[in-house]
Amino acid sequence: MAWDVIVIGCGGFGSATVRELSARGLRVLGLDQYVPPHPFGSSHGETRIIRKAYFEHPDYVPLLHRSWDLWRQAEAESGLSLLERCDLVLSGRAESEVIRGARLAALQHGLTIRNLTAAEACAEFPVLRLPEDHEVTVESTAGYLWVERCVAAMLNLGRAAGAEIRTGERVVGLRCAANSVEVETAGQRYSAAAAVVTCGPWTSQLLPEYERLITVRRKTLFWYAVQSAAWARLWGAPIFLVDMPGGQFYGLPAVDGLRVKVGEHTGGETVADAFRVQRETGVADQAPVDHFAGQCLRGLEAQPCQSAVCLYSMSPDGHFLFSRHPEYPLVTAAGFSGHGFKFTPVLGAAAADLIVSGHTELPVGFLSQSRFG
Ligand SMILES: Cc1cc2nc3c(=O)[nH]c(=O)nc-3n(C[C@H](O)[C@H](O)[C@H](O)COP(=O)(O)OP(=O)(O)OC[C@H]3O[C@@H](n4cnc5c(N)ncnc54)[C@H](O)[C@@H]3O)c2cc1C
Repeated sequence: MAWDVIVIGCGGFGSATVRELSARGLRVLGLDQYVPPHPFGSSHGETRIIRKAYFEHPDYVPLLHRSWDLWRQAEAESGLSLLERCDLVLSGRAESEVIRGARLAALQHGLTIRNLTAAEACAEFPVLRLPEDHEVTVESTAGYLWVERCVAAMLNLGRAAGAEIRTGERVVGLRCAANSVEVETAGQRYSAAAAVVTCGPWTSQLLPEYERLITVRRKTLFWYAVQSAAWARLWGAPIFLVDMPGGQFYGLPAVDGLRVKVGEHTGGETVADAFRVQRETGVADQAPVDHFAGQCLRGLEAQPCQSAVCLYSMSPDGHFLFSRHPEYPLVTAAGFSGHGFKFTPVLGAAAADLIVSGHTELPVGFLSQSRFG
């Protein structure tokens, strides 16, 4: 069978792209080396934060509005709960990127945030113990996504619209011509009018030209059992991101009423090969997160009860690498730099636009990898 589009990699971004392309009536083949959702790439660990006052850059805000709507649409179509609204507390010194950037994004885009002192924030959210010299912004148009459920839901919506997903099939070759692509796996060759490459931390293994652009980082997550019901989301416990001198730490309330997830957004060792990753966490991974939790969070056990290892694909400037190839019918989405999951439906829509018509009205130009020459 000749396909309209082959999506190579069906994780976070690939699953949303499969869904979007097949909803537009295209014949879509999705290929993945594992069986998504799986715990080997970048889209696992229960939850992902979504927020709108985007400190990384105000230009992401219009994409976030659209993405939020598309998550709600996916919920309506799948009948599943994917996005839970929850207050978000950002904390840092006045000059920190987190505080300055969130306030700038809110100002430029007319978003509602509340600016508090650390003492006011701790009174409102008694699970937090924030440094006295911190400033705080609180955003209510924030929340979290059930990450594995989202990937599965997007793939199932794609299948329901006619997409075929082949798992356990690793792509080892990709050849492009002006109006077609040929994709090779261990035992098969497939051809299509176009392809989307969305291989997360394995991108450079398929497209070596990305080696200079993507650094893969090993990231660890820890869950701490709660000692206090105040950590329950239903009791108003927030998502938090705190910019400390040692790094940026974040976490979610007890989404199951029992455990709080905490991680460090900054740092992480470089990984040379995403197939060879130390999947167990050790003392050196845990120590900075334990230290942060002991210093800034109240009512948690001192030792984590669970941990996970996940991978970030860092671009040189921390912004995504999202473009259509100038000569070939090929869209590549990579380098999500540890903050891409919330955007997967809107970027899936932009990828579908680029495949179908060669351009998109969505404001994604600032993410083009042409910024690196
Ligand atoms: C610990 C952690 C916390 C995060 N927190 C947030 C957050 O709060 N909010 C947020 O928005 N984002 C967050 N992110 C980032 C976000 O999760 C990622 O940006 C996003 O999931 C990346 O999706 P992806 O599709 O690029 O990669 P993946 O989901 O890893 O998908 C890539 C897929 O490609 C497949 N593949 C690779 N090579 C091949 C091949 N040759 N042939 C076939 N298949 C192949 C893989 O098997 C995989 O399924 C976090 C990431 C981590 C690791």
